[in-house]
Amino acid sequence: MSADSKKAHNFIESLIKDEISSGKHAGKVVTRFPPEPNGYLHIGHAKSICLNFGIAETFQGECNLRFDDTNPEKESQEYIDAIREDVQWLGYEWAGDIRFASDYFDAIYDFAEELIEKGKAYVCSLNAEQMAEYRGSLTEPGRNSPDRDRPIEDNLQLFRDMRAGKYANGELVLRAKIDMASPNINLRDPILYRIRYADHHQTGDKWCIYPMYDFTHPISDAMEGITHSLCTLEFEDHRPLYDWVLDNITPPARPRQTEFARLNLNYTITSKRKLKRLVDEGVVEGWNDPRMPTVSGMRRRGYTPESIRAFCDMIGVNKAGGTVDVGMLEFAIREDLNARAPRAMCVMRPLKVTLTNYPEDQAETLTLPVHPQNEAMGTREVPWTRTLYIDREDFVEEPPRKWKRLAPDQAVRLRGGYVMTCREVVRDSEGNIVELKCEYDPNTLGVNPEGYKPNGVIHWVSASDSVEVDINLYDRLFNHESPDSDKEGDFLDHLNPDSLVRLTGARVEKSLAQPRNDLPYQFEREGYFFLDAGASEPGRPVFNRTVTLRDSWAKAKN
Ligand code: ATP
Ligand code: MG
Repeated sequence: MSADSKKAHNFIESLIKDEISSGKHAGKVVTRFPPEPNGYLHIGHAKSICLNFGIAETFQGECNLRFDDTNPEKESQEYIDAIREDVQWLGYEWAGDIRFASDYFDAIYDFAEELIEKGKAYVCSLNAEQMAEYRGSLTEPGRNSPDRDRPIEDNLQLFRDMRAGKYANGELVLRAKIDMASPNINLRDPILYRIRYADHHQTGDKWCIYPMYDFTHPISDAMEGITHSLCTLEFEDHRPLYDWVLDNITPPARPRQTEFARLNLNYTITSKRKLKRLVDEGVVEGWNDPRMPTVSGMRRRGYTPESIRAFCDMIGVNKAGGTVDVGMLEFAIREDLNARAPRAMCVMRPLKVTLTNYPEDQAETLTLPVHPQNEAMGTREVPWTRTLYIDREDFVEEPPRKWKRLAPDQAVRLRGGYVMTCREVVRDSEGNIVELKCEYDPNTLGVNPEGYKPNGVIHWVSASDSVEVDINLYDRLFNHESPDSDKEGDFLDHLNPDSLVRLTGARVEKSLAQPRNDLPYQFEREGYFFLDAGASEPGRPVFNRTVTLRDSWAKAKN
């Protein structure tokens, strides 16, 4: 490794540095991010996006956005639009126009004819069942199709007839003629084209035959002058086929494929197909449900592009695979939000407090910093009145040892305000606590009381001068560390029933009467929150909790 490559972000970057210094690679570095538009992007795709766009940035090259759209039945414009928005939101700019593998269908078709003419592809009439039987297994070689030696002229005619719509779905396929005895099953005469009478979102009804992914991908890469085609490890065994295709046609460029490990995150799933089931079966609100590991779900929950990119940087890129702890993702978002989130107080489960010695007609305005470590963010005004709210969970009648909050005849400081002591607990006819009568100490604003010590600091809002809001608290969607590893059951058996808790009628301080939809907030002692603009009504904001202030999960659940 050269000295320079020590600074590389990942092994692919060092590989390319070495290629450049040894002269193996010359010219621009061109990568691509090639999603199939059959669902929304998830955190795994974010890793691939950061890698592909990151490599292009490092080498001052280019990265294309290309939709790999060879399965029209599963794809849609909705997914194309969502993916485009997500890539942009993550902060990346693709080179030139958006591309589609379907832009190359004519060229791909011509390359198929080229292979037929070279005697390297043939039309096969085995049905799916026979095909599987002829393919052999990991321990047994396959057998040649009876159609394998069909004359070139006949293959050409049949292939043209397939294209012209003279055959039914599944009746014929075009196969590469490679080696039915290859230890690599991908090389046992793989299918290149199949018949599908399906309207395509880009090409309409122009085609009734569609090329397979393994044939489409190397050609699309070559058409775009991609130099480094980066993909996940499950394609390692497909690389010989990727190379075979490019070696047996006359491609306009010669890309190379390099594989890296997929990102797996515990307590969630990263598979579009499975995420689609959560959506289709109504387990979640939609692809952008804040519990989803989708880019759009994370955005709605309050994740920032910076935090997702920092996370991808943290986990790195390698060939080893494994599972990343979701705690790392939460660490990344906390780091980012801690620095930028304005502070505010929000009482999630309001309990009324009357300050019996504070005059009815009096009120004052306290001035608190927006951010305790960043003066430049300014100050906010918080009204102090005779009636306040505190959180129900900050009061108990019989405090356990080391209780740091309010209890009868004990004193606490109200954050940024005065110290008060609880004198009386008021109940309704059913015995529920509905109010606390407290006495405040007028000599404690910004100074310690004399002769006694408050029990802790709790947050609060003015009852008459605060804003009612609704809050969504999220927890992990699954209560199993790897929900899809259960071979017998279904990943849906492992849903966490408490993944969403809705609190209605919480109260935030007045400075949030007009919350911004582009800023995360820290509600003191409760976590980081983000306005759910779509779910909010005028005058009734809804906030989603992005993440708690500390990682209390492992402790709470074990
Ligand atoms: P899914 O199984 O979720 O549908 P996919 O690989 O089929 O994933 P594509 O749309 O084909 O989804 O993926 C686009 C790119 O993103 C590919 O290069 C793929 O390798 C990469 N990618 C997908 N999932 C992950 C992941 N979990 N970690 C890293 N890269 C991923
Ligand atoms: Mg795929």
